[in-house]
Amino acid sequence: MSYGLDTPIQYLKGIGPKRAEWFKKLGVETIEDLFWYVPRRYLDRRDLKKIKDIKIGEIITLVGKIEVFGVQKTRSGRTDLSLILSDETGTIRCKWFNQEFLKTRFQVGETLVVSGPVRWYEGKEIHNPEFEILDSEETELIHTGRIVPSYSITGELTPRLLRGVVKRALDKYLLDLKESLPPFILEKYHLPPLPEAIIQIHFPKNFESKELAHSRLAFEEFFYLELLLALRKKASATPRPGIIFKTDGILVKQMLDFLPFQLTEAQEKVIKEIREDMADSKSMNRLLQGDVGSGKTIVALISMLMAVENDYQAALMAPTEILAEQHYLVIHEILEQLNINIVLLTSSVTGLKRRKILSAVEEKKVQIIVGTHALIEEGVKFKNLGLVVIDEQHRFGVMQRAALREKGLTPDVLVMTATPIPRTLAMTVYGDLDVSILDEMPAGRRSIITKWTSEANREKVYQFIRQEIQKGHQAYLVYPLIEESKKIEYLKAATAMYEHFQRKVFPDLKIGLLHGRLKSEEKEKVMQAFRKGDFQILVSTTVIEVGVDVPNATVILIEHAERFGLAQLHQLRGRVGRSQYQSYCILLASRVSLEAKERLNTFQATNDGFKIAEKDLELRGPGEFFGTKQHGLPELKIADLFTDTQWLSLARKEAFKLVENDPNFTKPENWIVRYILEKRHRGRVKLAGVG
Ligand code: ADP
Ligand code: MG
Repeated sequence: MSYGLDTPIQYLKGIGPKRAEWFKKLGVETIEDLFWYVPRRYLDRRDLKKIKDIKIGEIITLVGKIEVFGVQKTRSGRTDLSLILSDETGTIRCKWFNQEFLKTRFQVGETLVVSGPVRWYEGKEIHNPEFEILDSEETELIHTGRIVPSYSITGELTPRLLRGVVKRALDKYLLDLKESLPPFILEKYHLPPLPEAIIQIHFPKNFESKELAHSRLAFEEFFYLELLLALRKKASATPRPGIIFKTDGILVKQMLDFLPFQLTEAQEKVIKEIREDMADSKSMNRLLQGDVGSGKTIVALISMLMAVENDYQAALMAPTEILAEQHYLVIHEILEQLNINIVLLTSSVTGLKRRKILSAVEEKKVQIIVGTHALIEEGVKFKNLGLVVIDEQHRFGVMQRAALREKGLTPDVLVMTATPIPRTLAMTVYGDLDVSILDEMPAGRRSIITKWTSEANREKVYQFIRQEIQKGHQAYLVYPLIEESKKIEYLKAATAMYEHFQRKVFPDLKIGLLHGRLKSEEKEKVMQAFRKGDFQILVSTTVIEVGVDVPNATVILIEHAERFGLAQLHQLRGRVGRSQYQSYCILLASRVSLEAKERLNTFQATNDGFKIAEKDLELRGPGEFFGTKQHGLPELKIADLFTDTQWLSLARKEAFKLVENDPNFTKPENWIVRYILEKRHRGRVKLAGVG
């Protein structure tokens, strides 16, 4: 029985259940997965050298006859396999360290191709070369004598094994591989058919054909990604009738009078865009993007007031309890003077209190509802939800966002994010949303000074923090973990450090401790106290990462900064620099890897969220960066968002055109597209339209 491309790879010769497990770690379960598991690099082993011409230090490939071989014991106890090769110009020794078992592979008189570095020991030698035996039937070379694929591997898989497996799979199953792009597209862009591209990406004839294969596969990935987006866009553009809000009321004006500051020009501009959307008969589906501290909350509040003014309810959903609570407090204070009712709903609100809140929401005794994901739970019913705002939207999945929207009849939707997406790519990920950008910080902000230092300066860092506190400011001290963990013992846990600070370092200061395992009321209390200035220092885990706003805090010390990703560091740094005072971000990190060093250097060098996001994207790759799963989008395995951008725009153009002209893929030349969408992206097509 054959399943064709869906055959689990464990049925390939040479792979049993155990090796299949290793492959699974690479995301490879079927033959088709294996085809799409493309090499990360290529080694050029086409140039065959003669033995007399090889030089020490070079990495060479040569063909020779096996003269003799045997096992050699070294003084240090290694057992090496040593083998003499000859060609018409001379002889050379090849050595494989500690690989005695290879002796069963060779036979005197056989022709062998080897690739490896030339060293000097007992004369010239080639050490640990890759090799391949050329038998008389002249099979195709796959490990040497050609451009050789090099795959990223894990654990016990070897490059050699992987190459062999791919080759066997190609030999056996390539005929099962059907074209997946419409022929007119291949013709138009001179792209090779799929089977040809798959062969050439794994075992290229030359670098040109490899490039072409890459382009074809990248195009295909972009094409289907853009198709999904085009379908989504279409679903959301088919006028989803919305509420026509009147936006000229006085509530917003009144509120602005209470504000202690002027809106920035960017805020004004963004509010105008939102106002126009809300006044329109089609419902709003807008993304508000603004770096940490750019003042998104007030924009959200003004939008909500516009809904309230029209006698609708508005909901604001935040990813953490701490943030929801903060929004509640800030908004409550402003609204009190306007006679508007607001409630906070999180999962820690229970019992009678919860029932009271729920009925108030249902009977519309409250107009503004702030909360966490508790808002989307089943029991929560709104009377007439007119606007949904989602803060830090990257923390929520598509489904959660959709769920809140479903709580209203046709509410307008505003999602907010501080994760800036490089402009060229924003359209790809948010192709279905209209985008507003807050590209200006409130007046008088100074850029945060960031300094990365090591343990040696710990005392100085404490001194510095003390100075800031003496000026009347506050400080955050952030730790990656809450408890001394056995695995990572050197990590200073927040709890332990809290005690240490209170007793030894700052015995005269008031210090609070905040971490995820505290009860909700505890958390609230601590946060409140810090906000009010009762604590001068807050020792915390990353629970403060998103959104927390205490303008008087001017220093954040991040311990073990090497453990955090760029985006996370930037979010944490955003906890300070929220006032006119000069603020500081201090990173303590010792024993850092090269990669972490690059990250920390980038971070120290720039405050610009866009630059940071770009670097982050480069370091982590698009899959993790975008959280593509959350967006309900497929991952890109081959296409590179930086280097393949011209293919991205071509694919986008074609995909949108196709959806425009043949939205149900009924034309024969587009059947193939429908088939692939159904086969590869079934679940995702359903998600179309929920942004
Ligand atoms: P974020 O965009 O990170 O969510 P917030 O909305 O929390 O930022 O705003 C950060 C701080 O800036 C808050 O203390 C807020 O009151 C203040 N703020 C917002 N807009 C302005 C403005 N136009 N002028 C001065 N301060 C502002
Ligand atoms: Mg915020």
